[in-house]
Formats: sequence, C-alpha cells, structure tokens
Amino acid sequence: MGEAQSALFPNYARYPFTFVKGDGSRLWDEHGKEYLDLMCGLAVTNLGHAPKQVTQRLKEQVDTLWHTSNLFHIPNQEKLAQLLVDNSCADAVFFCNSGAEANEAAIKLARRYFNKVLGQPQRYEIITFDMSFHGRTLATLTATGQDKVKEGFAPLPEGFVYAPYNDADALEKLIGDRTCAIMLELVQGEGGVNPADTAFVKRVAELCKQHGLLLILDEIQTGMGRTGKLFAYEHYGIEPDLFTLAKGLGSGMPIGALLGKAKLREAFTAGSHGSTFGGNYLSTAAGIATVETMLAEKLPERAAELGSYIMSELQTKLTDNPLVGQIRGLGLLIGIGLTVPAAELISEIHGQGVLVVSAGPNVIRLAPSLLISKEELDRGLETICSVLAKKAAAAV
Ligand SMILES: *Cc1c(COP(=O)(O)O)cnc(C)c1O
Repeated sequence: MGEAQSALFPNYARYPFTFVKGDGSRLWDEHGKEYLDLMCGLAVTNLGHAPKQVTQRLKEQVDTLWHTSNLFHIPNQEKLAQLLVDNSCADAVFFCNSGAEANEAAIKLARRYFNKVLGQPQRYEIITFDMSFHGRTLATLTATGQDKVKEGFAPLPEGFVYAPYNDADALEKLIGDRTCAIMLELVQGEGGVNPADTAFVKRVAELCKQHGLLLILDEIQTGMGRTGKLFAYEHYGIEPDLFTLAKGLGSGMPIGALLGKAKLREAFTAGSHGSTFGGNYLSTAAGIATVETMLAEKLPERAAELGSYIMSELQTKLTDNPLVGQIRGLGLLIGIGLTVPAAELISEIHGQGVLVVSAGPNVIRLAPSLLISKEELDRGLETICSVLAKKAAAAV
C-alpha cells in the first residue's frame, strides 16, 4: 500500500505481505515469492488453501443457488447439521456466520433456557476464565477474560464472572444463586495456547452436573480436527451441553455453529433467534465438504500424529535454547513459549518464508494444515529452530 492512506479503518496491525494465491500449505505474495503456511489464517484453513474437495462443491453450488431466507428449508443446512450431530454428542445445531455469533447464540440460549424453560430468570450469570477469548461482539468481548479487548467499550452487558483457568477450587467458590453456565476453551488459543488440565476439565463437568449448570465449550479454535480429535472435548471423556464451532468448519468460507443437547431445543422457539446469512447454501456446502473430507481421510488422527511429531522435534531441537520456555499444545495447535517478546522473532521467521503467528506477547503459535506434508513440516520446523538458534547466539 506504500504511503497512501488506506480507506479501511485501522483496526488491524497487519503484517507487511499481500497474498494473491494459495495451494495446500503454500501461499504466494504479489511478487511471486512463496511462503509455507503454518498458521492457516488463524487456525481456519485446516484442509489447506483452496482444497479441491471443497472448491468442487462450492463451484457446483455457485452455479445452482446462493441464497433463500431461513424462512424456507435449506437442504445443505439440514445435511451439515445431521453430519455434525451424527459425529458429536449434540442433538441440534444453529448456524451463523462467525465465531463471535456462535458464542453470542450460546450465551442467549443459556439465558433463555433458564428464563423460559426452567422458569428461573434470576439465573443468568455465566462464569468464564481469565485469558479466555470468545469474540468481539459486546456480549462475547465481555465474556472474554482479557481487559485489552474491552478498552473503551463501556458500558458492557452484565452477567459475566471470571475464574482463574485450571483452578477448580477457585471456580467452585464463584458458583452462586445467579449462575447458569460455565464457558470454557479446552485450549486457550488467543490467550497463549494454554491447554486445560484433564483433572480440571473433569471437575468442571462434575460441578456443572452438581449445580445444574450448562457446560458451554468454545471449540471455535480447537474444533474441526485441530487438536487430534474432531472436537477437543473427546480427549477428556466429558460431554458439553453446548459447544461452538467456526474457524475450520468451512475451510475459510464464513460459517459458525452452535451445537447443543436435545433438552435445549425448546429454548430456541420459532422467532427467538436468527441470522439472515446463517447456514446459507454456499457456506454449508463448504462445511459439508470439509466434514466429509475430515472423516473420510481420518484427518483428526493425522493431526494427532503430526502434533506429537512436532512436539518431540521442538523439544529436541529447542531444548538448550535459552529464549525458549514451555512448549505446549494439543494436536496441531502448538505454542512455543519464549522468554522474550515474540514479535521480532516472528517477523524474522516470516522473512525466511514461513508464516507463524503470535498468541499473546511471548508465544509463537503453530497451527498448520491437517494435510501438510511431512517434508513441508520439516522445512518449517527447521526454519523456526534456526531463527531461534541464531537469535540466542546473538544474545550471548
Ligand atoms: C477466533 C475465536 C473466536 C471468534 O471468532 P470470530 O469468527 O472471529 O468471531 C471466539 N472464540 C475462540 C476460541 C476463537 O479462537
């Protein structure tokens, strides 16, 4: 863009690249330079860029029908909902266009279930966690446990309480007469790639049962095979009442979904919630192709294998590097914790043609495609480790 002022609001700090083409785990910029993508948008293009299984379906749909209102039946929407229900613990699905909208729907459904179905309007409070991220609408940024996303947006909606992550005793103390739900990420993505402890997750699920609370899992980043299971809750032997999806669900086409147990159906009576574009023909076509491909090609299993491989490679290659702290994650959502700010190292890695992204100020996040080749992955890890090694050597 040079020096000319952009006509866009300046609400993004953008990296200095413009991509014009993508194929699998590779992207090309406007000068024809090739990059290896280990971030997938932000954990979105789980099948890589322009995956042919999805583009095929989209092309067919583009030539057939794009839009009718949700006042009519939409076969793709029914089909995607059925696929998701058949492959999860949920019984019903609502489609929207983004993650924030999916979480907004979860918050509304939880409140309405207590108010209208249980007749307990005094129970509306939702407990979320420090360093969580749930979106940018007023309700979801209030649910988010990070002050920086709230600055300047007061007054914020009522009804959210924040607990320390991975601390079930502290959580239990916050449960009161007003509590209706607990909302949790099983790996905090934006908050720094922080996985929840298994014992903590099991306690949270027990506390929900014991106190009659809804367990809402935000699987917007952890869902769609990313962590080595189709949905991350499968790692923990628990079932949420509600969970949300977005990022990887449409392979890059905008789509969000709220999935829930049968008892919650009656809280969303006709007219109680909706979305003009939610579940449209195109994004649900992409969703169907994405889920079918993940299941047919056993991509969650592949994510688990590649994830353990990356972890052990990084542990070995970075073990003596003084700039590196904890390496953590689940499946193909991995954080390299640093003892220094991540920004400068990330721009050096970008300069070497490998795309990674931060998760908070001191973490390099890797979220490669579930279809990335071993050769590409090795090349990417080699670049990251050599940049970190050079920086450590220069720091001595
Ligand atoms: C990205 C993200 C969101 C917000 O999704 P949008 O599509 O940007 O609204 C919410 N929760 C989590 C865990 C996310 O990673």
